[in-house]
Amino acid sequence: MLKKFLACFSLLFILAATNTAFAKPAEITGINAFNLDKETVRIEISYRGGKLDSSDVSTSLNFGILSVEMHNTLPGRVSRVSGTQIDSGARDFIDKILANETQPKLTKVQIQFKSFLEGDVQVSFEPSNRSGRKADRVVIDVKTNAVKDKPLEYFDGGDKVIVLDPGHGGSDSGAIGPSGVTEKYVALEVSLKARDLLTASGYQVVMTRTTDVDVAAPGVPDSTELQARVDKAPSNAALFISVHCNAFSNGKANGMETYHAPTAVQGARLARLLNEELERLGGLNNRGVKAARFYVMTHSQCPASLIELGFITNPNEERLLASDDYQHKLAQAITNAVNRYFNQGGFD
Ligand SMILES: [Zn+2]
Repeated sequence: MLKKFLACFSLLFILAATNTAFAKPAEITGINAFNLDKETVRIEISYRGGKLDSSDVSTSLNFGILSVEMHNTLPGRVSRVSGTQIDSGARDFIDKILANETQPKLTKVQIQFKSFLEGDVQVSFEPSNRSGRKADRVVIDVKTNAVKDKPLEYFDGGDKVIVLDPGHGGSDSGAIGPSGVTEKYVALEVSLKARDLLTASGYQVVMTRTTDVDVAAPGVPDSTELQARVDKAPSNAALFISVHCNAFSNGKANGMETYHAPTAVQGARLARLLNEELERLGGLNNRGVKAARFYVMTHSQCPASLIELGFITNPNEERLLASDDYQHKLAQAITNAVNRYFNQGGFD
């Protein structure tokens, strides 16, 4: 009520007012991404029922995600999948687009790029055209030459802190394979090898355990044990990666998969990169990138992923997981994913 009154007030006393602060919120009606030309990806955010200008819209780049904050807007139907469209050409650059009302009348649109983005972003405002085929739009142009992979060999971890959490340990073996290989052993061996590779790349690595022990104590509730692992992460930790093996009653179940917490945007990106690197090893069936509420992911203060390296209950995969050579490859895959996470994220 107060805002309506103020809107009338300002219109009465400020001639030709373009005051948007008190205006009725605009409803976002669609988001389209397409390649404008060879060098530019264009993202058009259509809206109706209000008028937006540069005081309403701000952009920021972080970890390969372009965030567009749109004040005085409601996400309308684009908060559901139906309003968002990424053309096939733009799919080369954009992974997904999310829109949410993060505060009352503040919509945050997140454009998740597939790779490193250096930051040439132009925002303009286009009015609807008479033919009615185009609504009022916020137009965002991103130069695709700013989207690129940096060669991995130049990577310097820059002392970023990576937490590696070998699953289980001590009194808890985790799953056990048909010939007796334990999940806690594989998880630790792979994590130790990944620690060495990451350290050599300039990261600081914190392990939740480096030997065959319970992190909290034997026999404590799961939540106590898992919280002890989360607590091992220092406050400046950049990533938390939990390493596990899968298990199923049927020994034919096979493949690897990676997890992130639901709605965790950076965690999802980490899980996707880990999944891509594990797939690149070519050994196992890819069961995909999945969302789940695993304790260490939902309680981590930094982006987190849990990886299932393979099925220890499958005789072939048990043999692979127990081999020093394959463990080294898995460690290299984890290291590559971490490098790509930061390479593509636009860190200095
Ligand atoms: Zn496990």
